[in-house]
Amino acid sequence: MISFITFAAITFVYYGLTLALKPLEKLKQNITGTGSTDSTETIKNSVKDAGISTFLDDFQHSLIQFKEKLDKIEIDNRELASKLGVITFEKNQTIKILDSMNFGIIITDIQNNVNHCNDYMLNLLNKKKADMMDHPLGKILKHDEITSFISQQETQEQTSMVNHIETTFPELAPGEKYKISLSYIADGEGAPIGKMILFNNITGEKSTAKAMQEFIAHLSHELLTPLTTIKSYSEMLMDGEVDDSEAQKEFYNTINGETDRLAHLIKNILNMSRIEVGSLIIKKELVRTDLFYEDCITAVEGAAQKKNIVIERDLPDNFPALVGDKELLKGAIINILGNAVKYSPEESHITFSISEKDKMVIFDITDTGHGISEEDCSHIFDKFYRSSNPKIAEQQGTGLGLSIASEIVQLHHGKIEVKSELLKGTHFTVRIPKGEHYIGK
Ligand code: ADP
Repeated sequence: MISFITFAAITFVYYGLTLALKPLEKLKQNITGTGSTDSTETIKNSVKDAGISTFLDDFQHSLIQFKEKLDKIEIDNRELASKLGVITFEKNQTIKILDSMNFGIIITDIQNNVNHCNDYMLNLLNKKKADMMDHPLGKILKHDEITSFISQQETQEQTSMVNHIETTFPELAPGEKYKISLSYIADGEGAPIGKMILFNNITGEKSTAKAMQEFIAHLSHELLTPLTTIKSYSEMLMDGEVDDSEAQKEFYNTINGETDRLAHLIKNILNMSRIEVGSLIIKKELVRTDLFYEDCITAVEGAAQKKNIVIERDLPDNFPALVGDKELLKGAIINILGNAVKYSPEESHITFSISEKDKMVIFDITDTGHGISEEDCSHIFDKFYRSSNPKIAEQQGTGLGLSIASEIVQLHHGKIEVKSELLKGTHFTVRIPKGEHYIGK
């Protein structure tokens, strides 16, 4: 506004002088003889001696210089006005960017009076911009921890460093955790002219870190358990503590089974991390489901035998072929079949069938085990989810198997469904697109 008024005033004076110069120029022409009328001659004669001509020459010269300066000022002023326009535009753009940020920003001057507060922060504090602008930060925020953090930073004179604290806003955002960072804004010479306080919601990060810690603790336990068994059984065999050949065979079988379990666990973890970073490569091929089916049974047979669980085969006359990554799909079916064994009581039975419908190969796995509650059913495909049912929780597991299985099936444009009833059993159905080939029984 001030700039506009200055600009208008200068323009006004400029045009005033331009108008004033015109008659003077005419008068000078008359005096110095460049005019041609009689009256000119008269005036010329009357003022010549008085030296007015010289005075007018000087006066005109000064006026011309003055006009040149005004011309320059006008040009400078136009440049300033256009620079001001650019700066205003950039300022508005910056405000728009700050307002679109997914974290809170408050900018203050060096005395802690608020210069800017973005939309995120206004929402968090439940305030309007007018309630914030030019007000002392301490009076608006009313947060002792943040206020003392800011004054601590001031006394430490760490003007060029970014520092932070973690805190909460129990009334404004219950249950949310925020990281508050403070940095100084400096002028061209590096002298601090203001502060920028960032409010970053880290609730998600914190819970992911906690889940990751829990997972690592759980995983270490899952890896250690088979390793401990393998180590102690092999030591007993090596020390000759097991003479009986039947017992020896059992020990070797256990070692073998635990090694398979370990390998399966590591494969699951590897696949999960590949799925997470999007680097899982699917090598599609035509898969013979007769061999595929037998491989799945072999993988869980040892565990089933230990619990005297019978796996009933339900087979078609002609095995359809399927199109997909054999190893990944086998891992998915083994996860489901292994769960059926793991979560079923001793002496129970499981049915594993293969069929085809609507250009899909269908695997049905039915157990008569502990079953899954309705509440658990909606979470069992979530990563790390395990039921709190004591019968389930007492079994080893990572909560990864079904989430990996469902990712793999989806990557093959297939589907997994589950139906279950507590204490009665569970039925999983997996559908995978079929190939155009058949293999006889
Ligand atoms: P894990 O078996 O390692 O816990 P999964 O992802 O394979 O992890 O399974 C997730 C959860 O689904 C299990 O913890 C269990 O609560 C439930 N579940 C899966 N299959 C069965 C089943 N056949 N019978 C009962 N519960 C099951």
